[in-house]
Amino acid sequence: MPLSFRDLPIRDDLRGLTPYGAPQLHVPVALNVNENSHPIPEAVAHDIVAGLAEAVLGINRYPDREFTALRESLAGYLGHDLTGENIWAANGSNEVLQQMLQAFGGPDRTALAFPPTYSMHSIIASITGTRWVTGERDADYELSPETVERWIKKTDPDIVFLCSPNNPTGTPVSLETIEVAYAATRGILIVDEAYAEFMPAGEPSALTLLPGRERLVVSRTMSKAFAFAGARLGYLAADPSVADALRLVRLPYHLSALTQAASLAALAHADEMLAMVDDIRGQRDRLLEELPRLGHPVLRSWTNFVLFGGVADPSATFEALLQRGILIRDIGIPHHMRVTAGTEQETTQFLAALAELG
Ligand code: PMP
Repeated sequence: MPLSFRDLPIRDDLRGLTPYGAPQLHVPVALNVNENSHPIPEAVAHDIVAGLAEAVLGINRYPDREFTALRESLAGYLGHDLTGENIWAANGSNEVLQQMLQAFGGPDRTALAFPPTYSMHSIIASITGTRWVTGERDADYELSPETVERWIKKTDPDIVFLCSPNNPTGTPVSLETIEVAYAATRGILIVDEAYAEFMPAGEPSALTLLPGRERLVVSRTMSKAFAFAGARLGYLAADPSVADALRLVRLPYHLSALTQAASLAALAHADEMLAMVDDIRGQRDRLLEELPRLGHPVLRSWTNFVLFGGVADPSATFEALLQRGILIRDIGIPHHMRVTAGTEQETTQFLAALAELG
């Protein structure tokens, strides 16, 4: 019998956990982790390589621990009068969130969230020893101000997670709900906006609520709309004091010189990097229109994915699609599955295969 980690003198609170495990399989049509299916433009790739080449020549030295140029560039990208001081970044927004819980969560502290929501939020709570408490959503997974306020009052959390638009449902959280949540909590309010760029054009983000709210944190990522998942760059915008807190828990030089250089070069071409967002929204809208015709009710989605119901046996559908080279996500909600809006061709292949399964 091979040794299990449970045979080791591991922390008691880790014994029952299972690691994050979205299947990583090489298939022709990968629509399971909400990546941007479109490769980045070649001209941008060349600029990124040039930036990397320059960084490599100085790689004998540790990188800028404060990643100042990158923070300024991210602030410029976000707008809203933010400066580099308002920004913090790490290797993916997962790491940003982990640092947040290291600083503001931990033993004797509580984080409140509203499942179904992004699975890493609870995993990060567990690994930082933060108590995880959950509230219930309204019909169709929506979150009214009253509902959020009631759960905050009931649980008195140190941290509140609102994922907007939410993964895996695709549903947004209104700014009114966010404002009410902020006013109701004495803790930190984290709004995870990983999918913000897929919201309808002109729709305001929680970034607009930052002024005067020093316990509000908005996290973002370059992994989704920005087509940069492999580079691992996530960030947050908040009062500068939040970055000061995170300096206590980050490891020195956590953002490599290569990550900084690649991200800076990509941000210099933000428009081109985001060029496919309209196309992806179009494929998402197509999924929202066509899935119900195949007998699969959908929820509204402001993201690059759709949660659909009417699936008799999600694990059987998962396997049947996989046999056809298509990977989607069984997120553990009975009779539901989640699919990422891919390229037009990928979306067509998925819809045709699903129709064939009947
Ligand atoms: N937040 C949400 C809601 C997500 O769906 C994801 C990725 N699936 C992340 C954060 C983390 O992304 P990354 O670490 O690549 O920035």
